[in-house]
Amino acid sequence: MHEPVILADAVRRITKDAGGALEIYIVLDADRAQLALQAAEGEDLAVQLHQGVQDVRRSVAAAPRRLPIRCVGCTRLLKKSTYAVVVAAGAGPVIKDGVVLAFCTRCATTTSQVRVHAVIALKGLWPNAQRTTVS
Ligand SMILES: [Zn+2]
Repeated sequence: MHEPVILADAVRRITKDAGGALEIYIVLDADRAQLALQAAEGEDLAVQLHQGVQDVRRSVAAAPRRLPIRCVGCTRLLKKSTYAVVVAAGAGPVIKDGVVLAFCTRCATTTSQVRVHAVIALKGLWPNAQRTTVS
């Protein structure tokens, strides 16, 4: 299990480890079943992403009513929506330190729409990040 990390620390570590190269992984709600299958087959990246998505879903479900977890794009309550999970991490074969975002389906329904929202949100956190892949 990962310890909770302070966002600024995670950003700093990723920047140091990957030289600023950033990978963005997007898991649409509709892709969760496929990801779970890949994770069950033991594919490293799928295992990590699946774990990340499950962590987000647990956090959303367990968030207290006065402090609910909201969509990064529009502040809609995630608990009342389906949503995509975005993991941004330093480029590399495995995910070390990642930052996780979630966007509701009112904001974005396709991978490319989610990517646009994620890039906008991440630019604020990571002004020097470079995009590496378009997966
Ligand atoms: Zn939204």
